[in-house]
Amino acid sequence: MNTDLHHLGVAELAAKLAARDVSSVEATQHFLARIDKNAGLGAFLATDSKLSLAQAQAADARLAAGERSPLLGVPLAHKDVFVTRGFPSTAGSKMLENYLSPFDATVVGQLASAGMVTLGKLNCDEFAMGSGNDNSAYKPVHNPWDTSRVPGGSSGGSAAAVAARLVPAATGTDTGGSIRQPASLSGITGIKPTYGRCSRYGMVAFASSLDQAGPMARSALDCALLLSAMAGPDLDRDSTSLDLPATDYATDLIAGYAGGTGAATPKSLKGLRIGLPSQFFGAGCSADVLQAVRAALGEFEKLGATLVDVELPLTELSIPVYYVIAPAEASSNLSRFDGVRYGHRAASYGDLTDMYKKSRSEGFGDEVTRRIMIGTYVLSHGYYDAYYLKAQKIRRLIAEDFQKAFTQCDIIAGPVSPTVAWKIGENSDDPVASSLADIYTLSSSLAGLPGMSVPAGFGAHNMPVGLQLIGNYFKEAQLLGAAHQFQLATDWHTRRPPGI
Ligand code: GLN
Repeated sequence: MNTDLHHLGVAELAAKLAARDVSSVEATQHFLARIDKNAGLGAFLATDSKLSLAQAQAADARLAAGERSPLLGVPLAHKDVFVTRGFPSTAGSKMLENYLSPFDATVVGQLASAGMVTLGKLNCDEFAMGSGNDNSAYKPVHNPWDTSRVPGGSSGGSAAAVAARLVPAATGTDTGGSIRQPASLSGITGIKPTYGRCSRYGMVAFASSLDQAGPMARSALDCALLLSAMAGPDLDRDSTSLDLPATDYATDLIAGYAGGTGAATPKSLKGLRIGLPSQFFGAGCSADVLQAVRAALGEFEKLGATLVDVELPLTELSIPVYYVIAPAEASSNLSRFDGVRYGHRAASYGDLTDMYKKSRSEGFGDEVTRRIMIGTYVLSHGYYDAYYLKAQKIRRLIAEDFQKAFTQCDIIAGPVSPTVAWKIGENSDDPVASSLADIYTLSSSLAGLPGMSVPAGFGAHNMPVGLQLIGNYFKEAQLLGAAHQFQLATDWHTRRPPGI
């Protein structure tokens, strides 16, 4: 009996499955037992052992027939904004309580075809709006490093589940930082690819011009394995999907990996120019985070990379710009939840207007309601030009600033979050405080650029700190490659929360 299967990453577990040292059913049972035992973290909203074990049996049959592929038989779980057949898909909202989708999100389907086993659905902020996973309509998620603290958000269930080793990997979505920030606050690795690289079909929409799916796991290599299956065109079903073929992000990394023994020595990063925007290293960032980030950058220098100073002058404006554009798109996307076509319907009401009013007030939580109101306001006649149009113009200038910076460097680096994870409830009366904490992730989201978070050490209260790496369009392989070399030279990504 394998009692420590949960310490294996995706690549290592896949190797064991391929060697038939362990079966997918065994691995699935092991992780399901861990999910049960750690239910107090609040990471999961739904599991279904019958369904998961049936998928595991199917994977075992494929393995027995001699099929070998990098994810075959490996379990994972999905953020609850991905509609998933057989499991409820709630997006963390009462509006969609018990909603059963008749189809799989494209990303869910791709990972299932690759042979991954779905262990369940992961808690998140309602409709992916939040930074602490304290906006879930069901329950908050606790950070496994300190259960009195948030895991980050909105993909907080994904981050906590991976950090606590309840799953080897998970999907997440990132609209303004929701993969990178929880990865950083929970000490795991996560990548948001270039906008359009992964299909948005079947992802419950928040802000369509920003939403992007991506993998969250313990290492860059594991993220590369998942992203290879997730990224690719879906032109018939997502009009913003990029017409670029699927890419193998992992083979190059595995080549230097010595078969999962971890014995490989990192390759030189000579020639890699890492740009440090002064706006990411200012007074707004706490000293403990800056210290860990600078130490990690020192490690990149040792590997041969050069650090150069760059400027992203409009960084501060990314907060108001994002918090105009994202609510505007949300107000439009969420209008479909009217109690008729979708979603909760009030039990009693007067006329039609009253039915809409009651259903929507009961179904949406405070943060979602606030954003619908802001979004409706900035789109309304007389305010559209002053707010929404102006925000769109600044969005373009922010994207141009990145292109200027990328003439001087290959990758941009900095912190992900200005502080380590805060206490649950600490920001709940102050929505502006959590918006300000998004400062380092929003600008690259507005520009549609790929970005990742890599465990880089620990800060105050021994809580994890992530290093953010931002690449130019379509440069996911470069980000994953640099992060992988860093992870061969350091062991931050292998550290475990206390008691895990
Ligand atoms: N924290 C940001 C927000 O609340 C980002 C969320 C996200 O990326 N889904 O909107």
